[in-house]
Order: sequence, then structure tokens, then C-alpha cells
Amino acid sequence: RLKKIGILFICTGEYWKFWDGFYKSCEENFLIEDEKHYFIFTDNEELLNIKDKRIHPIFQEKMDWPFPTLYRYKIFMKNKANFNNMDYLIFCNANLFFSEKVSKSELFANKDLFVTLHPGFFNKKPKKFTYETNVKSLAYTEKREDSVYVCGGFNGGTKDEFLNMAEILNYNIDKDFSEGIVAIWHDESHINNYVQIHKEEFNILTPSFCYPQHYNINISKKIIVQDKEKIISIKHKGLFYNI
Ligand code: UDP
Repeated sequence: RLKKIGILFICTGEYWKFWDGFYKSCEENFLIEDEKHYFIFTDNEELLNIKDKRIHPIFQEKMDWPFPTLYRYKIFMKNKANFNNMDYLIFCNANLFFSEKVSKSELFANKDLFVTLHPGFFNKKPKKFTYETNVKSLAYTEKREDSVYVCGGFNGGTKDEFLNMAEILNYNIDKDFSEGIVAIWHDESHINNYVQIHKEEFNILTPSFCYPQHYNINISKKIIVQDKEKIISIKHKGLFYNI
């Protein structure tokens, strides 16, 4: 049978503006051989009213910064019963745009989890990585010769492995918060810590899968990270349907 892929898409506040471009490019280019289901966590009325058997809107209230990003794993844990029928779960930042075909085997190779190297650090030495440096934080990560720095915006796994990671990250984030600590790059610091500990379990993708729109680096662009300032400040204009 076809594998069911749950795409986790958070868009509160103005981020609903990315949905159309995200959805259209995803349908066209992303895992076209699998059965994709979209879980949209949003406070946008229009998106909450979408009726489609593969689109599952879930109400999520708007939060103040940094909680929309810091609490993403809490949102997934709270709603995990919705993912029961899925085989895989993939988190995508709202401003991703799929510009080339991507298959499941490229994402996972033979692993159960994948993450993406951060485009700003993939060609830098570990001493430049912006890991959390507070030893009291559960996101504290040592810099080693073979360390990698990953971005928070595109990662996934089999349902069980992804939810297992989400549960641990949610716990670590809450534990830090209860001690008055928010890691320097929020959820990204915590996932970097998790990847360092569990590196062998991950397929680690190149930044071709998170290529910032305004960058000019010599790698292919499979998934583009749209410059969000352009879209969020001007209504409906500049949506990145075609590249
Ligand atoms: N997000 C949201 N509402 C907000 C802020 C963030 O839905 O008000 C979600 C959205 O999915 C976005 C992600 O959180 O892509 C990460 O937000 P951030 O602004 O940190 O994006 P980045 O800096 O990683 O591009």
C-alpha cells in the first residue's frame, strides 16, 4: 500500500500567507509517489474551513514570540492522536517551497529520521556553530570535530521515531523553561543537541533541501526557503508560486 506521509505545517498569525504556495509546490514536487496528508495548525478561519480528505486543519492559537517556534513539539505531542494512521511525519517551516522533485528515498536513505544541514553553517568549522553554550540548558552541546549544525525548519521520521524525538525535545524545552532558560536558537538548539547524541539514526541532508531564496551558493535548489519578510509585510503580493 501507499505510505501515508503526515506533513506538519504551523501557520499562526500572518503565516497563513505561505499556505497556497507551499501546498501547490508540495503537491507538484514533494513525495509524489506517496499519500500526503497535511496537518495545518492555524488560527486562520479560511484554512480551518478547508474540506479535503488529505487536509486536516487543527486550531492553534497565536502565541507570542518565541513560542510559535519553541513550542512546536508541544503542539505535535498535544495532537499526536491525529497522526495515528500516518507512516511518516515531516515538519516543514511555513516558508518552504518545493522547486524540484524530491522522493522519500532521498530524504531517508536507509534511516528512520532525517534532518537538514543549516545553509549558513554547512561549510563552516564546528567552532563557528551557534550551539547553546549554557551548561545548565538541556540543549547544551559540545563542539566536536565531527559535529554538524542543522536547521530546525525541515526534518522528519517514521511516525514513531519522530514522535519519540518530539517527546524528548518537548520535555527538554519545558525543563529548561521551568528553570528560566530558553536556548539561544530555541527549538533549533534542542534539535542540534538531539542530533549530536543520535547522529547515527539520521540521514543528514545537504542545504539543497533548505536553500534560502537570496543565497548564491554552488549547490542545487530542491527546496527553497522563501525570504519571509517579503511575504509577511505585503498582503498577497510576492507569493512564490513560480520560480
Ligand atoms: N510560525 C508561525 N507563526 C508565527 C511565527 C512562526 O506559525 O507567528 C511558525 C511558521 O511555521 C514558521 C516557523 O514557526 O515557519 C518558524 O518561525 P521563524 O520565524 O522562526 O522562522 P525562521 O526564522 O526559522 O525562518
